[in-house]
Amino acid sequence: MESDESKNDVTSIESCNSVWLFDVKAMEFKRKIRNTSGEADTVSTDWRPYFGLEVDESNKSFVVQLNESGTRLLKSWIHKNPCNRCSDSNTTEISLEEINKALEP
Ligand SMILES: [Zn+2]
Repeated sequence: MESDESKNDVTSIESCNSVWLFDVKAMEFKRKIRNTSGEADTVSTDWRPYFGLEVDESNKSFVVQLNESGTRLLKSWIHKNPCNRCSDSNTTEISLEEINKALEP
């Protein structure tokens, strides 16, 4: 089985809840959802085609073009260290009790 790391031409961008991998040659991308410990090896999507990637370094954001005409766009924020966007949620611990409460109908 081929691992992501062995793929050539793969660019990775870290957002606050995912690691995005872009195969710039095949024009395919996938997302790995980070777990609470920050590791990115738990849940990931399949490789999906994309039609363009624009990274805005000054605003720390990026836009993925999902169709050829550019009418379907995915925008996300680049995670940085320290990160204002997710530092709040990282320091908030949710107790089991709160989770159970949220799951109740
Ligand atoms: Zn972040």
